Amino acid sequence: MRLPCDSPKTALTFAYLGGIKKVIFLSSYPVTEVPMATLKIFMPLHEGTLNYPYVGESGLYMVGIYLMEFFNEVIADSSAFDSCDYFFDSSALSAIGDRDLVCHILASQYYSIAKDHTSKSLGPAGTTVFSTKSQKVITEVYMTAIDGDAAKTRLLANLIIHELMHNKIDAQVSQNIVHNIEGGSVSKTPISSSSTPTAKDIAAMKKRIAVNVPQHTSFT
Ligand SMILES: [Zn+2]
Repeated sequence: MRLPCDSPKTALTFAYLGGIKKVIFLSSYPVTEVPMATLKIFMPLHEGTLNYPYVGESGLYMVGIYLMEFFNEVIADSSAFDSCDYFFDSSALSAIGDRDLVCHILASQYYSIAKDHTSKSLGPAGTTVFSTKSQKVITEVYMTAIDGDAAKTRLLANLIIHELMHNKIDAQVSQNIVHNIEGGSVSKTPISSSSTPTAKDIAAMKKRIAVNVPQHTSFT
C-alpha cells in the first residue's frame, strides 16, 4: 500500500520556500547545478501488523503526515535533499537510496528482527541497533506500545522519529547521544504522544541527515 501525501507536502514546501524565493531559485540556477534527491522514509508493515486494530489505514496516513512534517523541517536548507516521501509498502524497499531510512513496523517484540542480531535487550516500544551480522542498522517499532493511548497515531509517529534519530545519530557509535539532546523532546524517553519534535530535535537530525547509514532492509 502506498499512501498519498502530495497535498500536505506541497503545502509545506510552499510554506518553507515562500512564493518569491521559489521564483528566484528557479530563474537563478541551471537545474543541472543543483543535484537534489528525495529523502525516502520506508516503514514496511510486517506480518500481523494490520491485524492489530490500533490505527488502521487512515491512522497510518496520519503517521505519514507527522513524519513528513518532521522531515520537511530536517531537510530545509539541505544541499542533499529537496523533498521527502514515505512508503508503507515493503515492495517499495527496492528503490532505497544510500541515505534513506527504514523503520520496520512490527506487531510486537515477538516479531523482532533485532533480537537475532544483538545481545542487547529490546526497547519496550522500539529498538535500533547496529547488526554486526549484516553490518547494517536495524530500526523497528512495536504496535503493542501504542495500545490504549489517546493519540495513537501521534505516539506511533513519535516512536518512529525517535528510533530513526538513533538510526542516523548514534546507532553506529557506542555513545548515547540522542537521549541527551539538550532541549529535545521526542528524543527523550519515555516517549509519549504529548511531545512533538522541538527545534533542537530537528537541528540534531539535520546535522546527520545526509550521512550514509546502511539500512537493514531484510525481514530476518
Ligand atoms: Zn531511545
